[in-house]
Amino acid sequence: MMRGTIIKGVGSFYDVLTKDDTIRCRARGRLRTTGIVPAVGDNVLIKPGSDVHEGSIEEILPRRNYMKRPAVANVDNLIVVMAAAEPMPDLLLVDKLLVYAEYMDIAPLIAINKIDLVEDDELDKLKKEYLHTEYPSYCISVKEELGIEKLMKDLRGISALAGQSGVGKSSIINALSSDHNLETGEISKKLNRGKHTTRHVELLTIGDGGMIVDTPGFSQLNLSQIMTEELSENYPEFRRHKNKCRFISCLHDQEPECAIREAVDAGLISKGRYQRYLRLLSDLSKQRWY
Ligand code: GDP
Ligand code: ZN
Repeated sequence: MMRGTIIKGVGSFYDVLTKDDTIRCRARGRLRTTGIVPAVGDNVLIKPGSDVHEGSIEEILPRRNYMKRPAVANVDNLIVVMAAAEPMPDLLLVDKLLVYAEYMDIAPLIAINKIDLVEDDELDKLKKEYLHTEYPSYCISVKEELGIEKLMKDLRGISALAGQSGVGKSSIINALSSDHNLETGEISKKLNRGKHTTRHVELLTIGDGGMIVDTPGFSQLNLSQIMTEELSENYPEFRRHKNKCRFISCLHDQEPECAIREAVDAGLISKGRYQRYLRLLSDLSKQRWY
């Protein structure tokens, strides 16, 4: 048996990347009884067939995580993309994506694209919002080929992109992966179809063995599985202060002697991040009652 990673699904076949080759495989019948459908990103054990290029997937190894739409397993990094301008950054969505990544045990990275469109002071304001998260952050311009190399160097394992429509996700994927051309905004508008239609998800190789999901997805999110009590666990800059709150069950809202509110006042947590946290907290508590 050989070990490999599914990089593409093609009808009822899967392309599995092994140490030295890509082998097209079928899922073995026995697998279907487990109810787990093989997904791109799955680490699998395969038996090569008589023909070297056809084999069968015998076993799917345990998944670290699984994202839907597009379906990808074992995502290591989520690159949360915003544009410095055009469109205006939707920071509530950025925060939701960051929370989601934390919750899914995926390391978040922040990419601010289109820096060619703004002055430095405007960019600094945006960077400050996320300074205390200590997430790796990258200021890039696909248009002017700035910052892409640095981002590429830091990517290991499987990376996916998320963010508002139009921030440049497809452009970034194209820039990171030389062997592929995704449709960016204008072309898909010309073809008059959405970008999230029926194309298959695929892992593209980048840099030294890293891989990137070729589909910019995850722009619609539902965080409803997260409990209000655990929301703040997904904020790294909150985690550093939270056991100093007076109440163990503190939601960091109106409670007295809240260390998070104190940290906001002391400038150790961004005010905007905190206010958006309260907004998410209130959204989550409503969802639970209705
Ligand atoms: P997506 O919807 O997030 O996948 O965004 P696209 O990659 O389709 O890009 C949306 C638009 O922004 C396209 O017209 C791109 O050419 C443009 N764009 C992408 N990166 C940059 C950039 O760094 N600077 C500028 N000015 N425009 C960019
Ligand atoms: Zn608190």
